[in-house]
Amino acid sequence: MTHADHEAFAGRWAEAIIGTSYVSMGRRVLTRHLVGLTHQLVDAALAVEFDPTVGHQVGVDMVAAHFTGIETLRETLALIAEELPGVLGSGLPGVEVAGRVAQLVGSMAAGYAGALRERSLDEQDAIYRAGLRARRQAEQALAASEAKFRAMFTGAAIGIGIGDLDGNITDANPAMLEMFGYTVEELIKLNVRAIAVHPDDPPSVWEAHEELIRGERDHLRLEKPFFRSDGDEIWTHVTVSLVRDEAGEPAYQVAMLEDISERRRLQAKLQYQAYHDPLTALANRQMVTERLERIFAGSESQRRVGLCFLDLDGFKVVNDSLGHDVGDQLLITVASRLTGCCGPGQLVARMGGDEFVIIVEDTAGEADMAALADEVLSALAEPVQVGRHELTVRTSIGVVERPVADTNPADLIQAADITMYQAKADGRARYAMFDQNRSDSEVASFTLSATMLAAVDRGEFFVVYQPLVDLVEGALRGVEALVRWRHPTLGVLGPERFIGLAEESGAIVQLGHWVLARACEQARVWRNAFGDAAPLVSVNLAPRQLHEPSLVADVTKVLADNELEPSCLQLELTEQSLMGDDPGPLTVLTKLHGMGVRIALDDFGDGYWNLPDLRRLPLRELKLAGSFAAGLQSPCDTVDQRIVRALVDLAHALDLTVTAEGVETLAQCERFQALGCDTGQGAWFGLPSAPEHIDALLRGANPLFDREAL
Ligand code: C2E
Ligand code: MG
Ligand code: MG
Repeated sequence: MTHADHEAFAGRWAEAIIGTSYVSMGRRVLTRHLVGLTHQLVDAALAVEFDPTVGHQVGVDMVAAHFTGIETLRETLALIAEELPGVLGSGLPGVEVAGRVAQLVGSMAAGYAGALRERSLDEQDAIYRAGLRARRQAEQALAASEAKFRAMFTGAAIGIGIGDLDGNITDANPAMLEMFGYTVEELIKLNVRAIAVHPDDPPSVWEAHEELIRGERDHLRLEKPFFRSDGDEIWTHVTVSLVRDEAGEPAYQVAMLEDISERRRLQAKLQYQAYHDPLTALANRQMVTERLERIFAGSESQRRVGLCFLDLDGFKVVNDSLGHDVGDQLLITVASRLTGCCGPGQLVARMGGDEFVIIVEDTAGEADMAALADEVLSALAEPVQVGRHELTVRTSIGVVERPVADTNPADLIQAADITMYQAKADGRARYAMFDQNRSDSEVASFTLSATMLAAVDRGEFFVVYQPLVDLVEGALRGVEALVRWRHPTLGVLGPERFIGLAEESGAIVQLGHWVLARACEQARVWRNAFGDAAPLVSVNLAPRQLHEPSLVADVTKVLADNELEPSCLQLELTEQSLMGDDPGPLTVLTKLHGMGVRIALDDFGDGYWNLPDLRRLPLRELKLAGSFAAGLQSPCDTVDQRIVRALVDLAHALDLTVTAEGVETLAQCERFQALGCDTGQGAWFGLPSAPEHIDALLRGANPLFDREAL
């Protein structure tokens, strides 16, 4: 029997058993394996000494090679029993091959069965052992996680409480016990609600808790207060979680609580500081803003609101002369007196410095606020004792009262503030009630004042010229330069609208200089066109300009720039400019006069006048105020006529020329002429007008004043 025969047999064997057991061998590997077994069987069957246990070993081998299927055994045994004898042939002499094969098959079956049994015992054992091992591991893991949980539960800084679904507390950690001031024995007798319900809880809190218990939500997070066993209140951040059993059904609840009482106290303190003035403990500006916003946020359009804006009169003097400590004490007393005047629905606040505000909600009208302002004034009238100083406090109060629908917080405060300044302007120690007209004009003035300098740069100002006419010869002697503002929205504004504001703001210095320069340029134009017949140019000087150190230099430069003799220029100033102790203006005038610039005293006779001054001042001309012209309307010999005569005589005696202002009629003109006035100015001779109009006069196109007509 050849090796090829062995292989062929093994091939059939493989063919018979392939697919009958789960074996991870391919056909070739399987065949090779079976060739080996075939060798063993053949060798055994043909051996001199027959050993049937070889069959047993082959059976064991097959099981070891995972040929464990019953089908495999049957096919194998059948194949060996039926075909192996044929393959072996007659074998050795005296050997009964078929009998040996039968024995081998029996032995194989026994080996196979034994190996198979052992194998399944082994497998069971392995499974059993694995099961044991897994259980032990699970138990260990559980114990470890339980230990971990316990350690965490006990050592946690946050309070942890466990309760069943009925709310019975079943366990609580030390932090929780400390937080609530109970022992664990005391606590586990209680129901969650007994310690957790607080009167300030909104109903939604306990509704949400019910949902959690019913399994409709898994967590509940909120900040809420609790009462401790000693009755103290604590604030906590609470998370309640629902724990479910393996079936997903609600099993118990776990609450975790963080004590945030300290944080809340700190927050409250910061909140207090943010809204209060540390010195007086009154509300501060921030609180005022928010209170007003709240009042104005309301939808009730009928609501009215009142606001008093107080500023202490002369508080700076107290601070500067008696020191800040005294000032502080005074403010504290004022704060407490103001608080004493106010009731519910009224807020007293310190806005800063010596400014206070009282907000009154739901007023019925201005009378309410007037009564309150009176009460405040009388509460503050009582002198304040600070140490050894008895201080008298006075305050000015601006009061506004209006429907909420008509205003907004910022406007309300601004209106009260403006009104407070009006109270100050009206004489202090009083209140002023908001007046829309007054406010409008003040706002308008403020706006004009604030925009004036930019308007000079933008070229919105222009100069008009009014004739100054010789009353004897009827000739044009000069022109007065008068400034106008072509305002982009308000139209042309006369000087009465803005000169006073310019004085207050200081803008007059630039504006006055601009007018002077403009007038001198125009004087140069006339000089070029008309030579010596060109008119003198008379420019008004505001009091403030006389205090400018550069005035003389400015005038000198403007004259030089336009190549003008100083005598071509007249500067008009009022007596007001020369009032006060400052010798500066007089020095300036003396210098200008010395240069040859004509100095005129304007509006003489309006208000204050001082005849001796006329002698002291370096003047060339006296301009009689328009009020004299008005007094000269009547033909009879009036007091005014006599006064004018006396003034004219006095002026002439001092070598001054006299101009009559405001000459509107022929009669006035005649009388001034008869009284010896030198020059006239007024509507009768021509109103202020554009320089071209003066050109026309100079060309004689329109004789101004015909003496023959008198
Ligand atoms: P003022 O210097 O006394 O100027 C004369 C004012 O009388 C001018 O008023 C003029 O228009 C007005 N006037 C002219 N004819 C008549 C008349 O027949 N009847 C009456 N009732 N008034 C007449 P205006 O231009 O409104 O100027 C008013 C005041 O403004 C001036 O009074 C002057 O004090 C001041 N002003 C004008 N321009 C300037 C300026 O450039 N600088 C300074 N500092 N003040 C100026
Ligand atoms: Mg004038
Ligand atoms: Mg005048």
